[in-house]
Amino acid sequence: MRHKPLDILVIAPHPDDAELFCGGLLAKLGAAGYRCGVLDLTRGERASRGEPWIREQEADAAALVLGLAWRGNLALPDAGLDSRNASQVLALVEQLRDVRPGLVLAPWRHERHPDHEAASQLAKRAVFLCGLRNWPLPDQPAHTVTQLLYYPMRTQQSPSFVVDIAAFAAIKARAIACHASQVAADAAAPKTLVSSDASALSLQHRDGWFGAFVGSAAGEPYLVDGPLPVADPVALFRARSNPPQFFEEP
Ligand SMILES: [Zn+2]
Repeated sequence: MRHKPLDILVIAPHPDDAELFCGGLLAKLGAAGYRCGVLDLTRGERASRGEPWIREQEADAAALVLGLAWRGNLALPDAGLDSRNASQVLALVEQLRDVRPGLVLAPWRHERHPDHEAASQLAKRAVFLCGLRNWPLPDQPAHTVTQLLYYPMRTQQSPSFVVDIAAFAAIKARAIACHASQVAADAAAPKTLVSSDASALSLQHRDGWFGAFVGSAAGEPYLVDGPLPVADPVALFRARSNPPQFFEEP
């Protein structure tokens, strides 16, 4: 049986990336009634901490916390994502054609982890190719994604827009905490960036920093290639979450 189409799909290189960087957006849109999904590209088998089967259980628990309608894992090679690998591109195209998302979110193209950059390039190729009826063979069940968006991870980018997630910051934190093998303090485990003492706090500060630009206690930044098309600027800015008096001079 075919899946009901997803409204939004986050493509994540590893099983905790969606929670760390898009957790607020997923919780917020899920609560609003949208069908949200996460596709983990790898099982994280090359991570310094956490066995893949444990990480799978953690990902399932986080999906429940976030209220996801769907979560999948392509089981591509961790530390081996490669947008020039035809079988990896085909696997992602087939998955996109199955879950038929409207919005797709992928990592920003410049990141410190090679898998994160490769996931960005893979997503860009697959989102384009999955809309081609004659790729890879004639008469394929093509699907057109409405928009590819990007989420910056560990590099500084000026966002195209910020989503106010203040009301969902606690849910995001609970979803991140599900990934205990990655984020929990464990003196006996190898030291990693995401498990360091300052990591959770620094990510909360990051959300606070971006929230500050839209008058919120927490926000998540997103990017789009090129300018955003706006059909009706009056309606767009009337609908923004800040009340008009927010902008009045004291
Ligand atoms: Zn990652």
